Amino acid sequence: MREQRVFIGLGSNLVSPERQVLTAFDEIAASPGITLRACSSLYRTAPVGHTDQPHFTNAVAEVRTSLAPKELLEELLAIERAHGRVREFLNAPRTLDLDILIYGDLQFATEELVVPHPRAHLRAFVLLPLLELAPDAQIPGLGAARDWLQRARDQGITRLGETSTLRLALGSFADA
Ligand code: ADP
Ligand code: MG
Repeated sequence: MREQRVFIGLGSNLVSPERQVLTAFDEIAASPGITLRACSSLYRTAPVGHTDQPHFTNAVAEVRTSLAPKELLEELLAIERAHGRVREFLNAPRTLDLDILIYGDLQFATEELVVPHPRAHLRAFVLLPLLELAPDAQIPGLGAARDWLQRARDQGITRLGETSTLRLALGSFADA
């Protein structure tokens, strides 16, 4: 299969969520069949729904891959599981959530995978980092990401900083 341009959403609200997201970028880069092309800044978002949990750290990765969507999802779920094993308890906050936001221009829905991600266009914490990497991003079937962001303007979100700056600020995160 030809290489596809794919955007992956990253989220965490475990203690040290910034570290979770930064190590996840590294793990995505190290995954067979996936080439990491760009990392967005990290953003801090208030939790949606259950508001009595820590803030989320969110980011988006741009990758190239010749993995089929299902194969890519399996790679991402393996990374999620590796992070989940670190500290797992009942109703634990999300240690790491990896979502396939956009996969080339594909549009499909199976029981295990819906592409584009069905809520991507509604969430400022997806749209803002996505637009940082691809200002003209189109969400297949839904139109320009930029237009959707206008509708998500009221969602509280703070830019924490670029990944390179945060890596320095956090120092070694081998223990994350
Ligand atoms: P959410 O990300 O909506 O909070 P979860 O991460 O708990 O939910 O859901 C995980 C499941 O969602 C995966 O096992 C996968 O089968 C399914 N899923 C459906 N569409 C996608 C997608 N575009 N990206 C990632 N997972 C997806
Ligand atoms: Mg998910």
